[in-house]
Amino acid sequence: MTTIEFLGLAAVALVVLLIMEGVAWAAHKYIMHGFGWGWHKSHHEETEGVFEKNDLYAVVFSVLAIALFVVGSNGHPVVFAVAVGITMYGVFYFVVHDGLVHQRWPFRHIPHKGYAKRLVQAHRLHHAVEGKQGCVSFGFLYAPPVEQLSSELRRRGTVAAERQAQKAEPSETRASVS
Ligand SMILES: [Zn+2]
Ligand SMILES: [Zn+2]
Repeated sequence: MTTIEFLGLAAVALVVLLIMEGVAWAAHKYIMHGFGWGWHKSHHEETEGVFEKNDLYAVVFSVLAIALFVVGSNGHPVVFAVAVGITMYGVFYFVVHDGLVHQRWPFRHIPHKGYAKRLVQAHRLHHAVEGKQGCVSFGFLYAPPVEQLSSELRRRGTVAAERQAQKAEPSETRASVS
C-alpha cells in the first residue's frame, strides 16, 4: 500500500466517523425512540445490575462492524476503512455516553468545563423527559448549546419533568432551564 492509498483510507475512516454521528442521531430518534423503544426503554429507566437491555444495540452495531471487518480483510480495503470508522465511533460513544455521562466505569469523573461538560449536560437533558416522546438531544458527539435545548424543552412544556430530574442530579452538572 502506498502512502497516498493509506491516507485515502484514513480519510474514508474519518468521514465515516462523522457520518456515524448522523446515523446514530437518526437511529436514536427514529428507531430507539420508535419501534425499537422496547430495548431502549431500559436506558431511560433505573436498572439494576451491570447490563441493560439497551446494550443489545451495541451488540448489533458490533456484529455489523465485525462483518465489515471480515469482508474488508478479504481484499476490500475501503470496506475495512468503513469498519474502522464505525468502530472508532463506537469507542467514542462508549467513552462519552456510557462513561462520561452515565458513569459506567469504576471511577468518577465529571467534566466541569468545555465541550465535555456541554456533552454531558446535553445528554442529561435527553434523559430529563420521561418516556419516549418529546425528548431532545439525540446526538452524542455533537451537542447543541444547552440553552438551545432548554428552550426547546420549554416550548414543549416538558420543563416540569426536567426540573424533577434536576433535583436528583449533582448541582455542578446541572443544565439551567429557568
Ligand atoms: Zn433515548
Ligand atoms: Zn443515555
